[in-house]
Amino acid sequence: MSREYISRLFRHVHSGSDRTAFALGERQVSWAELDALSRRYAAGLSALGLERGDRVAVIVETSIDMIVALLGHYRLGLVHVPVNTAYRDVEVGHILRDSGARAVLVDAGTPSHEVLRGLDAPQPLAHRIVLGGEDLDEAELGFDALLDTEPLVGEPVPEDDDLSLFIYTSGTTGKSKGVEHTYRSVVSNIDNLTGLWQWSTDDRQVLALPLFHVHGLGIGVHGTLIRGCTTTLHEAFDAERVAEAVGDGATIFMGVPTMHTRLVRLMDADPTVAEKLSGARLFTSGSAALPVDIFEKFRDHTGHAILERYGMSETMLTLSNPYEEERRPGTVGFPVPGCEVRVVDADMNDVTPEQTGQIVVRGDSVMRGYWKQPERTEEAFEDGWFLTGDVATVDEDGYISIVGRQSVDIIKSGGYKISAREIERVLRQNPKVLEVAVVGLPDPEWGEKIAAAVVPTDEARAGADEAAWLDEFASQVEDSLASYKKPRALAIIDQLPRNALGKVQKHRLVERFSK
Ligand code: ATP
Ligand code: MG
Repeated sequence: MSREYISRLFRHVHSGSDRTAFALGERQVSWAELDALSRRYAAGLSALGLERGDRVAVIVETSIDMIVALLGHYRLGLVHVPVNTAYRDVEVGHILRDSGARAVLVDAGTPSHEVLRGLDAPQPLAHRIVLGGEDLDEAELGFDALLDTEPLVGEPVPEDDDLSLFIYTSGTTGKSKGVEHTYRSVVSNIDNLTGLWQWSTDDRQVLALPLFHVHGLGIGVHGTLIRGCTTTLHEAFDAERVAEAVGDGATIFMGVPTMHTRLVRLMDADPTVAEKLSGARLFTSGSAALPVDIFEKFRDHTGHAILERYGMSETMLTLSNPYEEERRPGTVGFPVPGCEVRVVDADMNDVTPEQTGQIVVRGDSVMRGYWKQPERTEEAFEDGWFLTGDVATVDEDGYISIVGRQSVDIIKSGGYKISAREIERVLRQNPKVLEVAVVGLPDPEWGEKIAAAVVPTDEARAGADEAAWLDEFASQVEDSLASYKKPRALAIIDQLPRNALGKVQKHRLVERFSK
């Protein structure tokens, strides 16, 4: 019976320290206050009859109360099930039913609250807890009323191999799956990762990522708990506000590439922003590929080489560029301590530097499985290795680069396997292009046909013509890549469809082309 990781997670919460743990706007909580609040909330939940192993769905915006709730759930060994607040009836219904949540936490007066009120409560959902607001209906309980309880005493209930967290995948490639994590998988990995990145109690993090995925919740929140740093939360990413907050003495900022892109644009327009950012210690990027030109421009402006890393819901964070040594743009570096990572061919043999292969992962950080989906879980592993579905290369020095997803970024056309990302990199260099995504469309002649969806820059938008641009872009590709990689269809669009983490939803682009 091991409780090593659960106690590491609560080390700073139990320190009695009056240093600030989290801040949002005007509100701040110290470690001692977090301890007291989470004990009260846990006692309230316990009085409702919730027990170790029960799932609690959490559909709330970023807030300090959300952190209190997370810790309260962990105290009782309840499984925290964060839900994207942009989700509506179908997605929320799916997660509530699939997870079998017994309680749900929601913000008053939000669209999520409306969604919940409109749903036929799936079994065994018995408790609806509402944050803020006064007009609760009979079936609802106020979060503050739950805190109005004698605090729970004693140590957290769960053991390291109990379920701690379900992360529902982004649904980038289909219906989202519930990924089962334990205290061991989460805490061991985030401890190793933040150790590699040298997080300490002196660090001050600005965290503007959503808190329902591995990135914001996994690293951002759990990293704060494990390392005892101070984190300023932002409800949403606003480039100017984030730059301001970083300039105010922050040391760490983690973002997705769309955030770094916006910071670069802001610095292009206003060079004083660069001074604010340059005082930080560490910028990291993940969740999607960081374009090399953004890495370079960010470094030109601030002097900082963004540290890119790779992870996924199922494996937590498995690859990272080094902290001390060279951070190589376009790569995601090396295995994080505690993770075994290989890039293999179809026979599970390691690839050579000239080949591409699939990333496979083994180690404590890997999920226990997909919740209630034993067959999908079994399919996801081979010889004990988790198959990520991501394609990569390994260079002579061991740096790993992500080529794309097997399912959507590898286009099979005319008997060739073509990387959509490689074509995107070429097209991005065209000054007319603000953003571009390349997809494969079903095609009777080619199997798949290469199509590019382009968001033009403001200057280029006026005269934009799809037929003329297709010719121009096709010859641009032919100038630097093999001719069979040229796009054969093109659409000019206002913006790329993206999810909450800024990932391009390529399946929606494919649908758009087929309209
Ligand atoms: P679903 O599995 O439901 O389709 P998803 O895979 O987008 O959704 P996540 O687990 O949140 O859901 O995302 C993990 C994926 O994000 C990885 O498999 C990889 O494709 C991509 N990714 C993460 N970091 C990087 C990175 N640095 N560069 C390129 N891709 C990345
Ligand atoms: Mg996935």
